[in-house]
Amino acid sequence: MRRKPLNTTSRSKLSKYAKPLANLAINLADSGSRLERRFWKKRLFAALTPMLEGRSETTLNQTLEYLYNHHYRAYDQLAFAVENTVESPVLGKQQDLLLLAVPILAWSTYNIPSGKIEEDVVNDFTKQLQKHVLSEHAHLVLTNVLFSPDQLPESYTSAAELARQLGHAALERLTVRIDSETLPATQSFLSDVRYLLGAVAVPEGMPVFKWQEDNPAGGAMLSKEEVLENWRTLGGRSVQKLMAGCNIQMLLPNGLYNACREAEKEARAYSVRASAAFLENSLQVNPQQIKASVGAFVDRGEIEEYRIGFSIDDSPEIVHGVVWPLIGEEYGNEPDPVYEKDISSEPDNPVIRSTIEALLKEVGIKHLKVLEERFPLEYCEDCGSPLYPNPEGELLHAELPEDSQLPGIHLH
Ligand SMILES: [Zn+2]
Repeated sequence: MRRKPLNTTSRSKLSKYAKPLANLAINLADSGSRLERRFWKKRLFAALTPMLEGRSETTLNQTLEYLYNHHYRAYDQLAFAVENTVESPVLGKQQDLLLLAVPILAWSTYNIPSGKIEEDVVNDFTKQLQKHVLSEHAHLVLTNVLFSPDQLPESYTSAAELARQLGHAALERLTVRIDSETLPATQSFLSDVRYLLGAVAVPEGMPVFKWQEDNPAGGAMLSKEEVLENWRTLGGRSVQKLMAGCNIQMLLPNGLYNACREAEKEARAYSVRASAAFLENSLQVNPQQIKASVGAFVDRGEIEEYRIGFSIDDSPEIVHGVVWPLIGEEYGNEPDPVYEKDISSEPDNPVIRSTIEALLKEVGIKHLKVLEERFPLEYCEDCGSPLYPNPEGELLHAELPEDSQLPGIHLH
């Protein structure tokens, strides 16, 4: 996912491997013409392929980290180039490849399924995606696993390896079977994302998706929204069968990084809606009884995420909470567009904050407290779950009342 690198304050000197890569990205970002851009782009992509195959994860991350602090546009160019190189390995045969992710948002008071999928279900999904989402030139190979976010490849090099493996299968028209026992265990949340992963092969330069294709009837091309609508209507029954007992929302399938970023963004509002529905149903309260306390959580002077603590009536206890991370270009602070007040002492992100406020109101929560103070990123020392603010601005562990009759799940 394109986001802030992990250790932005560490080293400021580049290794001898990272320096040429950083220079390529800087030259690309500073290009003065389309011709020059094309020149540096070609060089950059040529440098990345062997690095991803050679497991040079450290060099990649070090370069990204350095550019994030010293040349943001070059950072953006490099992150984009790395993601593209990962998703579209060049394996010859005059075919273009794309590592495809099919995201599904789900919430349930029971476990949201993940792991192995039966053969006939894989075949069904492959057919549906080919028919409703991909272009007529596309050949898709799906894996037999429903991935949770913590089961997706963690590093660029491991994602690149998966893309090569699946890409090869797509070129050779083979099937791919992953041993789901080797994947990390999935923690249960009230709401979460699941992914189907696969690779698409198309003849070089041909469209991958339906929304890139000319309409055979001669009319307008299908928009992404129309393709998503079709996918929801026509693929919905299969997805619902796969995720029995869950409320689901299907998102647009796309290249891995784009699909995951969009899903992470969508998952935040989805999880607020799920939380409100969950509290109303499970605790038998109406939305007027729910209080939401919203706090900005800061690391090194920049907002990392907002956290929303839910409490009932006048009780100070937090019964449930939602983390709202800032993603990609949203990350950090921004000046208030309305008041243009000086926020140099208090980091703020008014656009995100008002999005959260509007959403809480939309789900019927009237008692809303936006806390002025800024909080450190604190977690429970025992279980690692985030601590949420209550209306008084205290950070607390979310605990459901003891008398609530609920299946044993971790609620975050
Ligand atoms: Zn705990």
